Amino acid sequence: MELVFATNNQHKLSEVSAMLGDRIVLRSLKDIECFEDIPETSETLEGNALQKARFVRTFSGADCFADDTGLEVRALDNAPGVYSARYAGEGHDSEANMRKLLAEMESVEDRFARFRTVIALLLDGKEYLFEGVVNGTIIRERRGGSGFGYDPVFVPEGYDKTFAELGDEVKNRISHRAAAVRKLVDFLARYKQS
Ligand code: IMP
Repeated sequence: MELVFATNNQHKLSEVSAMLGDRIVLRSLKDIECFEDIPETSETLEGNALQKARFVRTFSGADCFADDTGLEVRALDNAPGVYSARYAGEGHDSEANMRKLLAEMESVEDRFARFRTVIALLLDGKEYLFEGVVNGTIIRERRGGSGFGYDPVFVPEGYDKTFAELGDEVKNRISHRAAAVRKLVDFLARYKQS
């Protein structure tokens, strides 16, 4: 089976490819020569993931999937959510995003937050959604040097270190993205058999 993953992020591609095994050939946007600026204009993660997958489907006709992730902070009515990448502006600057988040939460006692990933799969003319969640808390200062995005301020439930302190090996096992990809992989394994 061949599937297009609507991303050019090499890190995501190799991570997902390793989980899918060698019976599924994964192709990137570059592989299908899709160099368009794919719109992500929905107000939900589900909407954005579907929008990206449908765009690729129309572009190439191929079966495909796309993901979208957001950090949802309970005390901020689930912000930044779908706007996580551009919380502090279109610059997609992680430092500025964290600065804004910590400032917004300065006097907030409820520190609960979760990362949520949604994957939209378009396969044989049908659409499927898979969700992965990791609960945790937003601490008051940055800790750790690995990872990306909000990792230095997010401590996953059951740990006393941030994602940025835990490192890639642990994070990739327990993360929201890993959970969503695992559901996709299980689905595809069963789908191929039936
Ligand atoms: P994307 O949908 O994977 O591009 O994620 C959107 C934004 O959410 C990123 O630009 C980051 O700001 C944030 N984000 C997504 N996944 C993570 C993560 O694993 N750690 C920290 N921040 C993340």
